[in-house]
Amino acid sequence: MSLLVEGARRTYRARGGPAVAALDGVDLAVDDGELLVVVGPSGSGKSTLLRAIAGLERLDGGRVVIGGRDVTGVPSARRDVAMVFQEAALFPHLSVAANIGIGERARGGRRRAVLARVREVATTLGIDHLLHRAPGELSGGERQRVALARVLIRSPAVCLLDEPLASVDAELRLRARAEIRAVHRELGVPMVHVTHDHTEALAMGDRVAVMHRGRVLQCDTPADLFARPATVEVARALGPLPMNLLPAADGVVVGVRPERVRLRAGDDVVASVEVAGEERLVRVGALLARVTAADTPEVGARVRAEWCPADEHRFDAVTGLRL
Ligand code: ADP
Ligand code: MG
Repeated sequence: MSLLVEGARRTYRARGGPAVAALDGVDLAVDDGELLVVVGPSGSGKSTLLRAIAGLERLDGGRVVIGGRDVTGVPSARRDVAMVFQEAALFPHLSVAANIGIGERARGGRRRAVLARVREVATTLGIDHLLHRAPGELSGGERQRVALARVLIRSPAVCLLDEPLASVDAELRLRARAEIRAVHRELGVPMVHVTHDHTEALAMGDRVAVMHRGRVLQCDTPADLFARPATVEVARALGPLPMNLLPAADGVVVGVRPERVRLRAGDDVVASVEVAGEERLVRVGALLARVTAADTPEVGARVRAEWCPADEHRFDAVTGLRL
């Protein structure tokens, strides 16, 4: 049951306003048991893409194929796609157990069999002690686990998550990431996880698709995205720190990661020094360097930034494409 999106286009025409190409020709292929993370800034088309896969949004062009079957014109209810939203949509008047089991009951599951299955998936997600609570008595993270349990109990053909960790506390986020990966392993179906957080994207994805203005700029493993960004936007967007991008001769932009910059005695003035854990972020003109505390110069000191030629990334200044 793989997932394929081919040439997906969707344009919104707000009355009186300009047309917005929310999806401007998107191609994606997600294998069985693969977790693809789609990352991009707000407004880049991530939700539109998920909604089109789920059948909640029509496409102006292109197609969606699930398990070899073209479902482009198939209504949402007949696609067997589960989706978790930023705010878990739970029935407030039903218990957690009823919220998890309601779909199975609607599909004709017997009460006791459904309850046993509810207990099972709730245990997997560590929420078995919350089954009698109402959704209003849960934290944001607990509500998202209920939403995930609802996906797990159903075992759909495709699973879509639209920024599910946005309302989860920062300290719980690491654990929540691990839980999503566990749900994914258990389901073994194509999963698409959307986020605007590049750290989350690199940490979670088997592959990561970087979206920008309705297009996928690059889709690669986290290690390859980091080592060989295909465009300046990807170089800027991904990594613990944005890449330094310096205009050079002949219409070339040279990129170098702050981690790869070394500082020697020279003529440029250190503008600022920030503490970043055990390391320091040193700003020299337009350049950012990440160095060990022991190698950190004083603000106002005179330095020269250096790096190995092998650590340089080169981009076309006009197109932004990697050379
Ligand atoms: P993201 O999820 O990456 O933040 P969206 O897919 O929600 O982005 O939106 C992509 C673009 O399409 C945005 O410019 C947004 O304003 C526009 N858009 C989304 N939904 C609608 C709609 N129903 N009507 C008009 N414009 C929309
Ligand atoms: Mg969105």
